[in-house]
Amino acid sequence: MSTNVMTRPAVLILLGPPGAGKGTQARMLEDSFGLVQLSTGDLLRAAVAAGTEAGKAAKSVMESGGLVSDEIVIAILRDRLGEPDCAKGVILDGFPRTAVQAEALDALLSETGQKINAAISLEVDDDAMVARVAGRYTCAGCGEGYHDTFKQPKVAGTCDKCGGTEMKRRADDNAETVASRLAAYHEQTAPLIAYYDGKGVLQKIDAMGQIDAVAEGLAKIVKTAAP
Ligand SMILES: [Zn+2]
Repeated sequence: MSTNVMTRPAVLILLGPPGAGKGTQARMLEDSFGLVQLSTGDLLRAAVAAGTEAGKAAKSVMESGGLVSDEIVIAILRDRLGEPDCAKGVILDGFPRTAVQAEALDALLSETGQKINAAISLEVDDDAMVARVAGRYTCAGCGEGYHDTFKQPKVAGTCDKCGGTEMKRRADDNAETVASRLAAYHEQTAPLIAYYDGKGVLQKIDAMGQIDAVAEGLAKIVKTAAP
């Protein structure tokens, strides 16, 4: 085997539900590895502003209130991957969203001689995420915020600030909103997780820890997957 292998710009995919710290982690990877984070929204806006052919196509679809097709997004991504700032590699955020898009992305990357180095799933504990929200309550008198687990008043049931004893708890809607957002995420992402697992590029990382610890774990994955 030849050892003279050309290094192509790395392609990383970051998957994670709202609240998992995806944006923060992507920025840290940009800083540490010289990668560029590409989100679908940013890609579309930039292409429209630049007036590229694909950007013009996207603009007319958006102006008519339609959804920009996978073909257009792929065309915009193709243009973007060739730009000099992406020479070290990119972190895709929010694309692909479906297995069909994942296949289209693979087809594009086979044209450019690139591949998915890793699809990294930021794993959260759904119950813990919901508990963080559901445990919140406030003092009815002064509005001071408390939490069943993380911030209890010094004297149970009595506000530290105003001495009030009436505590307000929002109905379950907060917890329910978080739970349903997580459920929607898992439903949407499951086919992608399976797709990348099948390709042998899926990496999972526990995103419930401290930001720095998560960043360290991610950096290890990136170093291994995209040396
Ligand atoms: Zn109070």
